Amino acid sequence: MTLPMEVPAAGLPARVRIHEVGPRDGLQNEKATVPTAVKAEFVRRLAEAGLTTVEATSFVHPRWVPQLADAEELFPQVAALPVDLPVLVPNERGLDRALALGARRVAVFASATESFAKANLNRTVDEALAMFAPVVARAKAAGVHVRGYLSMCFGDPWEGAVPLPQVVRVCRALLDLGCDELSLGDTIGVATPGHVTALIDALTAEGVPVDVLGVHFHDTYGQALANTLAALQRGVSTVDASAGGLGGCPYAKSATGNLATEDLVWMLRGLGIDTGVDLGRLVATSEWMAAHLGRPSPSRTVRALSHQEP
Ligand code: MG
Repeated sequence: MTLPMEVPAAGLPARVRIHEVGPRDGLQNEKATVPTAVKAEFVRRLAEAGLTTVEATSFVHPRWVPQLADAEELFPQVAALPVDLPVLVPNERGLDRALALGARRVAVFASATESFAKANLNRTVDEALAMFAPVVARAKAAGVHVRGYLSMCFGDPWEGAVPLPQVVRVCRALLDLGCDELSLGDTIGVATPGHVTALIDALTAEGVPVDVLGVHFHDTYGQALANTLAALQRGVSTVDASAGGLGGCPYAKSATGNLATEDLVWMLRGLGIDTGVDLGRLVATSEWMAAHLGRPSPSRTVRALSHQEP
């Protein structure tokens, strides 16, 4: 299989942890129900490809996300895998369900904008934070790692550009609740590299350590890798990605969504940055899932590596 030439660049982290979101963020908007056994196989193949963090599912109410209504069936099928398996929890009920199954990592999901908080959670930003407070506190008391997702960190489909101080305030609030890690989401994919640098600088200026930051870019306008590189140049070493580029945002018109894990691995490998991921196995996994879903992966790297002559 073709691999990129390795030419390291200065000023980048030696290692990057990929937070794989395919089974959760990637599948959650799929219309046709994916069988639980296929999801479990997907998680297993991702772990075998070398991903060390695989976000497995979501304990939101089944009515909100019917595709992930099988969280109770799925989680025990993958729980013994030797990888971190974070799960989404929206509230204390979701946390109870996740803890009962032995989840050791959970994630809450806040919004930087009032419009998306209203659309996604039917709450104001501060009401959502108040809802998460006991979730984070109880998770921490149980020794469980908590990730805080923050949506709409750059632009919002209703509000346009999102002011940096507004994002910094909610990040600060999530850390004050006790979140161990934040994921800065460009939910509609409108960020460009200078904006990414400006946000990370604004956060570090307010005392947020760069090592608690992860980035979650969407490739709607083809900017996800450029934005990732900008974040790496500022010291970020956790990057969210979705195998095969599965998933997206229901609020963005374009079908392109999450940064594809293969595209990320290709760039990192070229930069000589270790991820532990076997690109061939990962591509094979995304081809397998694409066959199941009945449409090709939008990942450039998957397509390039899938159609080569031997
Ligand atoms: Mg996403």
